[in-house]
Amino acid sequence: MAALNGKRIAVVGYGNQGRSQALNLRDSGCDVIIGNIDDEYKERAVKDGFETLPIAEAAGLADIVMILLPDEVAPDVFDKEIGPGLSEGNLISFASGYNVFYGFIVAPPNVDVGLVGPRMGGGDVRKRYLSGEGFPSLISVEQDASGRAEETIVALAMGIGSTMGAFMSSCREETLVDLFGEQLQGMSLYTTQLAFDLLVDAGCSPESVLLELYMSEEVSDDWKNMARRGLWKQLTGHSRTSQYGQLTRGESQLSAENKRFFEQVLDDIRTGRFARELATERMTGYPVFRRLMERALSHRINGSEDMLRGLLKQRNC
Ligand code: NDP
Repeated sequence: MAALNGKRIAVVGYGNQGRSQALNLRDSGCDVIIGNIDDEYKERAVKDGFETLPIAEAAGLADIVMILLPDEVAPDVFDKEIGPGLSEGNLISFASGYNVFYGFIVAPPNVDVGLVGPRMGGGDVRKRYLSGEGFPSLISVEQDASGRAEETIVALAMGIGSTMGAFMSSCREETLVDLFGEQLQGMSLYTTQLAFDLLVDAGCSPESVLLELYMSEEVSDDWKNMARRGLWKQLTGHSRTSQYGQLTRGESQLSAENKRFFEQVLDDIRTGRFARELATERMTGYPVFRRLMERALSHRINGSEDMLRGLLKQRNC
């Protein structure tokens, strides 16, 4: 972490990632200031003992600016408040490759640009730093004006607690895997809801269906076992009936049409079609997002979950 000696780091955005990364860097011995708008996140930073300044001021005072703002607001804030204060030898880093890959943020040629993207939410970034477990990150150097960008990026990754491994990547790769992973998760949410409807309409009680599908947390244990033992190797922990059902029925739902659909999802990410759609959505006040979220939250599964959660709580007492 010698590359950070004598360097002042401005963490811009004190949200999910910003707070955890700032606290970890400070505990690692770094000189950290916070740039945030005047809101409750700023009050939290002050309460946590940080010098907290308006974004432009913090960025202007720092050698390293970690941009930990929501991806959709970062370009605007960068153009108005961060970019103008950058000077030769500064480094800016991101926790996601999105804005760099799509060209929504273009840094001046005399600064270093990199990625330090934890594969964890902010809460775990802090928890696993404190426990000493660490966590993995994808890192990259996108622009090396100083000739020393890589050592600074690696040092930042260590400073935030990414001691489980900082894997050299790129903003392009991080964006492809991150967005595809999120959208795959969305597909499994809709698939789970479809399964709920099918089983309830077939006469099964909502409680039994929800316990089976996710509310007993057996399924989340399966996902943990995939990480620890392997996607297929964890199957040996299931009964033969379960293994046979998973291997046969799982594969047969992967039709050629489904595969083409997956390719289309990836293509939308790769070509920027998804990002442009999201930008239009944002400019028009998120009409599609609001409609879909409203529809999701009014589905009968929500009431069934509340009912089961209530029953489980009663039994625990
Ligand atoms: P959050 O939404 O938690 O926090 C972002 C911060 O930005 C908050 O302090 C927020 O304050 C501030 N902010 C929001 N809008 C504006 C604005 N218009 N002007 C100035 N400041 C603003 O973001 P995350 O921590 O989730 O995300 C930060 C980065 O980390 C993103 O690039 C994301 O992709 C990446 N990342 C996130 C992960 C996660 O699990 N959350 C995992 C890995 C990477 P306020 O809301 O009060 O305005």
